[in-house]
Amino acid sequence: MNKENLIKNKSILEMTNLGNYDWIFIDGMLFGSLEKWWGDGGRRKAPHEGIDLCMYKDRNCKVCNVDEKFEITICCKGKVYRIIDDFLGKTIFIGHEIFDNSMQLFTIYGHTKPIDGIINGRTLEGGEIVAKVSESKNIELKTHLHVTSAWMPKNIDVETLDWKTINNPQITKLRDPLKPLNLEPFE
Ligand SMILES: [Zn+2]
Repeated sequence: MNKENLIKNKSILEMTNLGNYDWIFIDGMLFGSLEKWWGDGGRRKAPHEGIDLCMYKDRNCKVCNVDEKFEITICCKGKVYRIIDDFLGKTIFIGHEIFDNSMQLFTIYGHTKPIDGIINGRTLEGGEIVAKVSESKNIELKTHLHVTSAWMPKNIDVETLDWKTINNPQITKLRDPLKPLNLEPFE
């Protein structure tokens, strides 16, 4: 499969169950933001590598918070490449069978609790549940899910998949999970 074959005009987020929610984004939650949305605010150390999903409006327009019962499905067929600890839970790297020249599409879910059976090497179909959101014990930072989508070198050494690699523009080409894949220019 290549990216032209993907459902046209759908973003990575819309291809998961997360697309069914009416998310509330405040400054600092969006891709590339330089601001912190938690605590006293201030600047992030690096532009935001993805989006943060924390609050949404339900059918009655009531504002709800993501909690530890919140499930995450993946956008399309993919393999679990690596699971590492982050400061709120686990970060899961999913490599998809979508390539652009020497690059492979990854979706990365941060601050999660993988469900049973989610281990390195496990292949999942699109729409399968990969994890639930990890509850934040940090009073300054509400429970939330972080979603990154990125092009990373195919055949990347899985042991090197971590937040440092995500933030290394020599290796990783970050993209906005809210933007459709097929409209993306690629150099
Ligand atoms: Zn984030």
